[in-house]
Amino acid sequence: MGYKVSFEQANKIFDKLWDKYDIYAPKRFEGRGRYSDTDIVRYDKVNTVEEIVFDEKSDYPAKEVLAPISQTLFYFTEDEYRESKCSTRPILIFMRPCDINAMHHQEKIYLGNGGYTDLYYERMNERVKIVMMECTEGWDTCFCVSMGANKAEDYAVAVRCENGNLLVDIKDSELDAYFAEAPAADFKPDYIEKNEIELQIPEIPNREVLAKLKAHPMWEEYNKRCISCGSCTVACSTCTCFTTTDIIYHENGEAGERKRTTASCQIKGFADMAGGHTFRTTAAERMRYKVLHKFHDYKARFKDYHMCVGCGRCTSRCPEFISITATVNKMSKAIDEIMASENN
Ligand code: SF4
Ligand code: SF4
Repeated sequence: MGYKVSFEQANKIFDKLWDKYDIYAPKRFEGRGRYSDTDIVRYDKVNTVEEIVFDEKSDYPAKEVLAPISQTLFYFTEDEYRESKCSTRPILIFMRPCDINAMHHQEKIYLGNGGYTDLYYERMNERVKIVMMECTEGWDTCFCVSMGANKAEDYAVAVRCENGNLLVDIKDSELDAYFAEAPAADFKPDYIEKNEIELQIPEIPNREVLAKLKAHPMWEEYNKRCISCGSCTVACSTCTCFTTTDIIYHENGEAGERKRTTASCQIKGFADMAGGHTFRTTAAERMRYKVLHKFHDYKARFKDYHMCVGCGRCTSRCPEFISITATVNKMSKAIDEIMASENN
């Protein structure tokens, strides 16, 4: 069913929803941006429609709700452990189509990958109902259309913010009941069909070409430009890597908690192993690993889509102005060169 509600009416519906649901959406944090006079937009609980940022892309993705940057997994003593507790309240998350597609990519990693389900992700994921924020124009770093991530039909509710009103399309019958007194409207969401950036995703035809691409000099540029800060992966809608740390409460080391924290494949030491072994010691090697993971390896493993959803957040957050789309274009050119040399 479709409805049109003023912000005032929507806030009354929010009040009722809050009796049962936690509501998350992109929200502005004034003065908390990269520079002293800038804001940041990131996910948090919202109580009113006015708190939701509709007219900007959030700096950080919706994944932060489901996979927080830092969380306690379990508490332990010398002879027992207890899993951390988690609310059982259902969650409504306002997400753009790219973030919804990113969530589905993350589900492949966290839920059942290799026969293992991450229960900390699962217990969050099973509480979620998606509120899709219509997105028809995008921003200058977006390339969701090229990645096939510009559409998402599996929402509980879709919303368009228009002149102080919300137009809503509701597929979930339980949520539909909250709009019983709202005026009906004929609304279905539109999707963006063309971004400013159009990216041709290169196909790597075989292992020989892949090996030559890995050895190609194009990656050397990043030894000079990338400072290995990890900002790109923290802002990435689809990255899932984390590290774990034991926080010890007492000197005897037998009581404490295990936390997991978002990790970045771009940071030196990410691939360190016991025994002093390490891999990908240069920024160029780490960049190559990240880019190939997003635009080749994930698809090769799961046989459906590339992992990247084209949200462009990595480009927006990089302090060295390294653009993921420019990097993929360079990769395409390198593959063309390799193929041409093989055909000669
Ligand atoms: S690699 Fe960049 S554009 Fe792709 S999903 Fe991650 S942050 Fe978005
Ligand atoms: S944000 Fe930029 S400089 Fe930092 S690790 Fe990523 S690509 Fe390198």
